[in-house]
Amino acid sequence: PLVLGIETSCDETGVGIVRGDRLLANVIASSMDEHARYGGVVPEVAARAHLEAIEPTLAAAVAEAGIRLDDVDAIAVTTGPGLSGALMVGVGAAKALAVALEKPIYAVNHLVGHVGADVVSEEPLEYPTIALLVSGGHTSLLVVRDLVGDVELLGETIDDAAGEAFDKVARVLGLPYPGGPQIDRAAVGGDPKAIRFPRGLSLPKDMAKHRYDFSFSGLKTAVARWVEAETDAGREVPVADVAASFREAVVDVLLTKAFAACADLGIPRLLLGGGVVANARVREEAARRAAIAGVTLRIPPLSLCTDNGAMIAALGAQLVMAGREPSSLDFGADSTLPVTDVLVH
Ligand code: ATP
Ligand code: MG
Ligand code: FE
Repeated sequence: PLVLGIETSCDETGVGIVRGDRLLANVIASSMDEHARYGGVVPEVAARAHLEAIEPTLAAAVAEAGIRLDDVDAIAVTTGPGLSGALMVGVGAAKALAVALEKPIYAVNHLVGHVGADVVSEEPLEYPTIALLVSGGHTSLLVVRDLVGDVELLGETIDDAAGEAFDKVARVLGLPYPGGPQIDRAAVGGDPKAIRFPRGLSLPKDMAKHRYDFSFSGLKTAVARWVEAETDAGREVPVADVAASFREAVVDVLLTKAFAACADLGIPRLLLGGGVVANARVREEAARRAAIAGVTLRIPPLSLCTDNGAMIAALGAQLVMAGREPSSLDFGADSTLPVTDVLVH
């Protein structure tokens, strides 16, 4: 089936088009630059930017795919989780298209969409798989037994998302937003063992309840305190060492939990997704640990790791092919949609 997907849950306006598991177009407009001076995504600014970008992005995707809008078999759209105002722009546009074209509409889960991105990769993963999704808004560990119907949450962050921690620590070091790439750059030549920052949620009593949960706010605070102490003592802050040591702590926490899940559940497959996967150290260390553990590692190309419409279209196409009933037209935006709800009716 020819499916058009719309994604507006955060700061990327994405429209993607797939035919079955083949990617035809993936156009993204980002309002990231507009958020830079605030040091994080501002919901109101994001919603306004989506409103301006949605029509041109849609037109560009249709042109890139070389199709006519009328040829589309179904529309898929992110209904949650995400920023309400931002989500509503995509939902509104998708409904308008579905009504005008008289096509079925599928209201899908953003996080499951990140897993769906893998479907259009050259060698998609087999199921079940463990999936680690890390971005500015999420840090989630999932077990995916069936993309269109059996997704379970193993753990998530109880405070800051990993990407958010990168952004906040960058600010502490006086580096601009978004912090991820800045920390990556600043860490070059730094010693990852220079400072032993806390790994978080490692107390035995926490382990049972939050076996696979993440916490990054303690780490962020530890970095801020360390930098403050150095400054107070009149010493120059070794930015490269701090960046490398902080990055090492984040990578260690993320991958230790992900590979523990693979081992505990006996699932030798791991899929990574989300903007933090752009991190050079995450990719390198994931590959190293996967080789040792005998785990098949999948990292979709970066354009499919960050928020995009193609992953939503891909998930929509899977739902169509599985014969799932489309959504009724009265769904809304659900900012806290649980990951178990792959499709909302
Ligand atoms: P959502 O959480 O809804 O997916 P998002 O816009 O935060 O939305 P992405 O666009 O996928 O998600 O990711 C952006 C995040 O990724 C930012 O927090 C940014 O700092 C982080 N990031 C980008 N590049 C890197 C990198 N090289 N290292 C670490 N983090 C990075
Ligand atoms: Mg983004
Ligand atoms: Fe995302």
